[in-house]
Amino acid sequence: MLPGRAEVVVIGGGVVGVSTAFHLAEAGVDVLLLERDELGEGSTSRAAGGVRAQFSDPVNIELGQRSLSAFEDFARRPGGEIDLKQFGYLFLLSDPEDVTTFERSVRLQNEFGVPSRMLTVAEACELSSYVVPDGLLAAAFSPTDGHCTPEAVVQGYAQAARQHGALLRRHCPVTGIEVTGGEITAVHTDFGSVETSTVVCAAGAWSASVGEFAGVKLPVRPLRRQVLVTEPVPDLPPRLPFTIDFSTSFYFHDEGPGLLIGMSDPDEEYGFRLNTDDRWLGRLADTLARRAPRLADIGVAHGWAGLYEVTPDHNALVGEAAGPSRFLYATGFSGHGFLQGPAIGEVMRDLVLGQPPVVDVTGLDVRRFADAGVRPEHNCV
Ligand SMILES: Cc1cc2nc3c(=O)[nH]c(=O)nc-3n(C[C@H](O)[C@H](O)[C@H](O)COP(=O)(O)OP(=O)(O)OC[C@H]3O[C@@H](n4cnc5c(N)ncnc54)[C@H](O)[C@@H]3O)c2cc1C
Repeated sequence: MLPGRAEVVVIGGGVVGVSTAFHLAEAGVDVLLLERDELGEGSTSRAAGGVRAQFSDPVNIELGQRSLSAFEDFARRPGGEIDLKQFGYLFLLSDPEDVTTFERSVRLQNEFGVPSRMLTVAEACELSSYVVPDGLLAAAFSPTDGHCTPEAVVQGYAQAARQHGALLRRHCPVTGIEVTGGEITAVHTDFGSVETSTVVCAAGAWSASVGEFAGVKLPVRPLRRQVLVTEPVPDLPPRLPFTIDFSTSFYFHDEGPGLLIGMSDPDEEYGFRLNTDDRWLGRLADTLARRAPRLADIGVAHGWAGLYEVTPDHNALVGEAAGPSRFLYATGFSGHGFLQGPAIGEVMRDLVLGQPPVVDVTGLDVRRFADAGVRPEHNCV
């Protein structure tokens, strides 16, 4: 059953939507979240779970750092066990230009209190013992980065949002947004309409179509990414950092008794495909044999595919549309939306309430594309 009216309707029940619903409900707002599938069934449950503050753009450093604090405090607020492992993120660098850029980023991160630092190749290989030094020049490391369980984060926020009075409706696709005289008046679903004046679009890779419902252009495109999980690895190091070979985007971290492994596929084309296939495996095997040869013979247990929600400059879209009034959006995280979920929920609460947001997200406004004011994020994988 849908309510006849809600103060705010959040569209999408991934990490961004449930965090937004939680922070709004906690602030006393009457909020309804509509998810067309199960909570977290979009990109969030398919994420590698990496959480970090090592970015090149100040706004991403702040969002990442603030979210890390929230993940550390998750058991208390909103509540729930998320299996946070702060074993660090290790970026392996083999291109002199990347070394210069990472040195600059580390200085910037340190200004924000992030304890990141540059490492020698020997130090990097000691921290991530599967890595061989060939071709590497340096590495960047931050010990407070790590990974946690996306489904648990979604359930933690969802449960606490409900406790604060939010309504979360699953299997309820939004099919339209009614706008009259430049103002939102209702949201339409397969199960009826809900009167509202305020919508938050948190629809991830599907945000462009939700924006269209209200006549708002959100340049977000879906791009499939595949990951696999290995069989148990003998002698898995106890504190293995989330390790990324930056020039190839090959990465791995511990996942139960095995490893979660991923890498981008430069031949992948934009689209909503979610099947897994073998096309990327040849390139992955070559990279793995070169960078972490001891892992080459480990068997694969299973794998999956999910969608990155990509914008033209690989930076998020967060803000309020110029029109219709009270259409807000938080989307297009381009591969780092899970780790920003907690802080973005706070930001969306503030934007809805018309108060200065906890992090200044002015630069993430979608109008930057019209103004040619793109702000590329360098530390993407
Ligand atoms: C393989 C892979 C690895 C990743 N690894 C990481 C990582 O390590 N760290 C990191 O930070 N990020 C990672 N990401 C990215 C991360 O998963 C996303 O950025 C993040 O989950 C986005 O969250 P979201 O809530 O915006 O979107 P989603 O989780 O996709 O949620 C959007 C929801 O909106 C719903 N929806 C869409 N349209 C409608 C509609 N019309 N009506 C109702 N509901 C609708 C969808 O069903 C969906 O559940 C990874 C992604 C992939 C694919």
